[in-house]
Amino acid sequence: MPARARTNPSPVRLLAAGALGAASWTGTEYLLHRFAMHEMRGKGLASREHLQHHADVTYFSPTWKKLLSAAATSTVVFPAAWALTGRRTASTYTGGMIAMYGVYEVAHRRTHTHPPKNGFGRWMRRSHLYHHFGKPMRNFGVTTPLWDKAFGTYDEPGVVTVPRRMAPVWMIDGNGEVRPEYAADYAVRGGARSTEGQRKRDHDDAFANEAPVLEPA
Ligand SMILES: [Zn+2]
Ligand SMILES: [Zn+2]
Repeated sequence: MPARARTNPSPVRLLAAGALGAASWTGTEYLLHRFAMHEMRGKGLASREHLQHHADVTYFSPTWKKLLSAAATSTVVFPAAWALTGRRTASTYTGGMIAMYGVYEVAHRRTHTHPPKNGFGRWMRRSHLYHHFGKPMRNFGVTTPLWDKAFGTYDEPGVVTVPRRMAPVWMIDGNGEVRPEYAADYAVRGGARSTEGQRKRDHDDAFANEAPVLEPA
């Protein structure tokens, strides 16, 4: 009976739908970060919020804006998925996508606030900080390099040089030098404090998709 099959999708089908939802988030993450945030150069809320984070890496969009964007995404994704498949499969797919979005939000914030704990965390920080301080138009994926590799925007981060005024707290010691355990991955340059002029310059560079200058005059 097709009606019954539609209302009772198998656990395997639901698991696959959730996993596919999570995987589609990573592609969405890439597209939004590259096109809706960087290519828009400050036009629209998402771009403005994100480039503000590039200008000041301690700035993260408030939670309500994130919940709003998750809700907005669901209202587009869920009906589209429902049109293609059953309601439960569609909700599991959408749930997988939103859950992965939550994982991304936490993972992204932690690259800035917490030291790596394993090889994946180490890669994620090097790649994302290369995106911030090396080439803002490369390495858009935070949770996976897959889409950057597919679209030809992936660089191996190498040793990432970070302006000292923007260095994450986990990376540097009390004297503002790179901690020995991270010396193979990072170097720091310039002064620890930002002047008003520097903050203005950092803002303009971020909104032009330029990396922040390393040693301000
Ligand atoms: Zn970031
Ligand atoms: Zn970015």
